[in-house]
Amino acid sequence: MIIPKKDLLNDAEVQELTDIVGEFDCTITPIIGATRTIFAIRGDERHELMINRIEGLPYIDRVDTIQSPHKLMDVQSELARHEISIGGRVLGRDLLIVAGHCTVDPKNPQLFIETAHAVKEAGAHVLRGGVWKPRTSPHSYQGDAKGVEVILRAHEETGLPINTEVMDEEQLRIAVEAGAHMIQVGARNALNYALLKKIGELTGAKGTVILLKRGMHMGPVNEFVSAAEYIVSAGNPNVVLCPRGTVPGLDGYRNHPDESITPLLKQHTWAPVVVDPSHSVGKAEYVPHAALAAIAYGADGLCIETHCQPRKGIGDDPKQAITPDVLGDLIRDASTIFELKNKYQSYLPNPAAASR
Ligand code: PEP
Ligand code: MN
Repeated sequence: MIIPKKDLLNDAEVQELTDIVGEFDCTITPIIGATRTIFAIRGDERHELMINRIEGLPYIDRVDTIQSPHKLMDVQSELARHEISIGGRVLGRDLLIVAGHCTVDPKNPQLFIETAHAVKEAGAHVLRGGVWKPRTSPHSYQGDAKGVEVILRAHEETGLPINTEVMDEEQLRIAVEAGAHMIQVGARNALNYALLKKIGELTGAKGTVILLKRGMHMGPVNEFVSAAEYIVSAGNPNVVLCPRGTVPGLDGYRNHPDESITPLLKQHTWAPVVVDPSHSVGKAEYVPHAALAAIAYGADGLCIETHCQPRKGIGDDPKQAITPDVLGDLIRDASTIFELKNKYQSYLPNPAAASR
């Protein structure tokens, strides 16, 4: 990773760097942070001569060669100083609440608009609405690009940034073009490396926040953090990790609640963690407990399916969406627990990571 002395290099300087690394069969990718642009080196970055030549340039501070499979996501990485913000909230410092429908119903747009106003009133910061849906059965509702107009209207009316999931490049291009502020990678695509790379490439210059769900079958922490590394190394450092339950192990819950992974994630990576309790437990009545537990485990935020009339919803909403009233209570109580976070962060082995 190349760390320049200034916020932005000019074209001639970038070309000079490109030429040097090219001599060693490497390439560079700019990673546009909130305050400055750094460069990932693709290829074997350990050539001593290459490092010396780059570090000899007057506009370069240093070259970091962290030996980790997820060197950009690592707590030791320069990116650990990178702040991610959305909806006026700085992740890690301010509790972030993403709320809204599992699925936007284009046949009933008014319901989504009503929910959008209600979650804003309840204190949410980002509005979620699934336009395209990954469904287990091909016969279930798959989503419809018409939903884009609905989420854009909700954004115009409420001012809330919008989050939506994409599953392929075509959807990604539509979502980016529409100006989606947060793009979700679902559990099923968490290891779709081609999509992760494409997302990094197409969203890096836009500052889009990427909510990367944890895959249902993911095991070691490293697998999750390395998936995020694909997005960051392709150009977008605004990645937020979202545990959402893994394969079911407890009768009664939709998935196996995994909010306890947060302290482990924070030992490995600087990335903020926003937990999805809705898909984890899968029933509206269990969601508040799982949500509060997630914050107690040190999460930086929550992504909660919320619907003004869950029984009229489609997708997961009839089963697992909470109502805006419950959301409001939950945000108040989650904020209280969130405030306690600083008190306990020194108990974690890596205080640098815990302070995020
Ligand atoms: C969703 O957020 O509606 C969704 C499909 O999530 P996941 O990918 O976690 O199943
Ligand atoms: Mn859902």
